Amino acid sequence: MRNRVQELFGIEYPIIQAGMIWCSGWELAGAVSNAGGLGIIGSGSMYPDILREEIRKCKAATSKPFGVNIPLLYPDIDKHIQIIVEEGVKIVFTSAGNPKTWTKILQEQGIKVVHVVSSSKFAKKVEDAGCDAVVCEGFEAGGHNGREETTTFVLIPQVRAATNLPLIAAGGIATGKGMLAAMVLGAEGVQIGTRFVASVESSGHTNFKNCIVNSQEGDTILSMKKVMPVRLVKNDFQKRIQEAEDKGATKEDLEQILGRARAKKGMFEGDMNEGELEIGQIASFVKEIKPAGDIVREIWVEFSAARKAVGEL
Ligand code: NDP
Repeated sequence: MRNRVQELFGIEYPIIQAGMIWCSGWELAGAVSNAGGLGIIGSGSMYPDILREEIRKCKAATSKPFGVNIPLLYPDIDKHIQIIVEEGVKIVFTSAGNPKTWTKILQEQGIKVVHVVSSSKFAKKVEDAGCDAVVCEGFEAGGHNGREETTTFVLIPQVRAATNLPLIAAGGIATGKGMLAAMVLGAEGVQIGTRFVASVESSGHTNFKNCIVNSQEGDTILSMKKVMPVRLVKNDFQKRIQEAEDKGATKEDLEQILGRARAKKGMFEGDMNEGELEIGQIASFVKEIKPAGDIVREIWVEFSAARKAVGEL
């Protein structure tokens, strides 16, 4: 099998590891790329000098392609873009913003640009902006999420119908069977976050990884819609947000409860009660912390077996 996503990035398997804040450093990205997927450094939680260091370490860790994710609302985005260009990064995934702003500038430097969307309306904008591919991410996904709450199963066929771009599906996918389902619906690759947070190489705190493998169905919720919808684990912090929302809190009230660096407190420093723990619904199906390379290989083996078995349905 060789499709447009594999060709675009020059990778063996169309399995892309999401560039998650606080979890996706060079160790995870390098391990995924070495195993034949596409590893991505999550720059949203990195100061510019840290990003440069992470890119350099990733280049030393793998000779295979890897990318960097930049949330377009990142405060020092100009510096991140400059570093990406200077360090010769060849693949950039952008999210949470207008794809028109940076796509051409990056492409002029020979960089492939992929943008993440949560609706087919935005997917068309991605195509108009000239991006090389699009990721459609459903409501099941962890972290920043679409306001319309469209699920991955509903989203993929509609984005497929709306654009001709190479299509990568995300949200609720953690297994080879999930990957096959996404591909039957029209995706040419998958982006996986939650499964890789619970990997040996993820830079997330051990408490956070354990929280994932011990979680049950219904343990995550899409919260803070007035600020920025985020899927996270229900905990003391989230309960306070919920109570304030129920009492009609304004965006400003919620921002005050949120404060600064909540995600770092939870995902990186390991405070499971007061931190913001961004993770997808599929966390409840993840039962073990494993090396990232094993995760890539397992997904591919299961995908290949399920592909053969599906003929018997
Ligand atoms: P906050 O404003 O609460 O805190 C900023 C955090 O980002 C701090 O922990 C800080 O680290 C770190 N940081 C890294 N670089 C910078 C910088 N140049 N200026 C200021 N702070 C920086 O933000 P959040 O934790 O909610 O989000 C941080 C970033 O991650 C944002 O850019 C946001 O867009 C992105 N994000 C992306 C998500 C996604 O799903 N893709 C989800 C959530 C956030 P320190 O504490 O060491 O100062």
